Amino acid sequence: MSTTQTNKIETIKASSTKINEVDFSNLSFGSVFTDHLFECDYKNGEWQKPVIKPYAPFLLDPSTRVFHYGQAIFEGMKAYKDENDDVWLFRPDENYKRFNTSAVRMAMPEVPEEIFMSGLNQLLQLDEAWIKKGKGNAMYIRPFMIATGTGVIANPSDDYKFMIILSPVSSYYSGDVKVLIAEHFSRAANGGIGAAKAAGNYAAQFYPTNLANKEGFQQVIWTDDATHTKLEEAGTMNVFFRINDTLLTAPVSERILDGVTRKTLIDLAKSIGINVEIRSVLVSELVEAAKNGTLKEIFGAGTAAVVSPISGFSYQDVYYELPKIEFTMALQLKTKLENIQNKLEEDTFGWTVKV
Ligand code: PMP
Repeated sequence: MSTTQTNKIETIKASSTKINEVDFSNLSFGSVFTDHLFECDYKNGEWQKPVIKPYAPFLLDPSTRVFHYGQAIFEGMKAYKDENDDVWLFRPDENYKRFNTSAVRMAMPEVPEEIFMSGLNQLLQLDEAWIKKGKGNAMYIRPFMIATGTGVIANPSDDYKFMIILSPVSSYYSGDVKVLIAEHFSRAANGGIGAAKAAGNYAAQFYPTNLANKEGFQQVIWTDDATHTKLEEAGTMNVFFRINDTLLTAPVSERILDGVTRKTLIDLAKSIGINVEIRSVLVSELVEAAKNGTLKEIFGAGTAAVVSPISGFSYQDVYYELPKIEFTMALQLKTKLENIQNKLEEDTFGWTVKV
């Protein structure tokens, strides 16, 4: 290992690389990590010296607060390599802002922009060889923060650890996605933490999603907790509906995550003349549109899957199959977004940021 100081981040390089052990043509999403990670601890009310070091497990006391009270947040973002071997981030400022929104909601300290952005950039530069070119290929970036203070007392921790880990990916979901509309379970409630990327939100989804999987559905479409009449999110994605030629999606709220892909697709759709309505979509409206043939498409939108078309939904034990359309809005928008992310098409929006 060698140690260097660059822009205040101490860098301890791994003595060897694991890159040759990885089959990049056969990556399972989020399961392979690069040689290094970024770490910055928060102690005594202050952020400590950041470090980039070899990716490795670390020890925590059994009474560490994150294990007991779940103070844990994360982000999900991607970097792309273009044909000239330049590396690009996509709207990283949005992920940075959302990370701190999550931190505030979970009574955790906000991470300074300098630490987040320089950590991210220097880590990507160091492990740049792990980012592969070509559509669908990307580096999935997982910034996260956990409560590292000890003691089984249900108070916010005094100490925290902020880390960034990197995972090379190709694409997320594949095959047919059938969804179940939630009639009982909820992922979020008014006054709750649905708008935060808090670890507990995902744990809470696992059980209802497992039940849906057993019935043959890959995902759950979450409805509002109070009435279960409004369609809110699909699995861990925002959700869009195409009725006739109008694209509909719910407004973000304290129950719905402010997805970067969602807001990007809204702008892209508008830019190519698609009529977009941002309003709550009712389950009854969806069922009616499916029955009368005006429901053309449903798709999820998120960083991992980009755009994930849904082939049908079940509600009150009735399955509604969507029509098979050749040139879908989902594909049109996905292609345009991926072209911008991969620098194959000019980014007139200023969303891509060079590493
Ligand atoms: N909703 C939830 C609950 C999510 O976890 C995600 C993934 N971050 C999204 C929506 C999509 O957000 P983004 O487009 O920023 O990835």
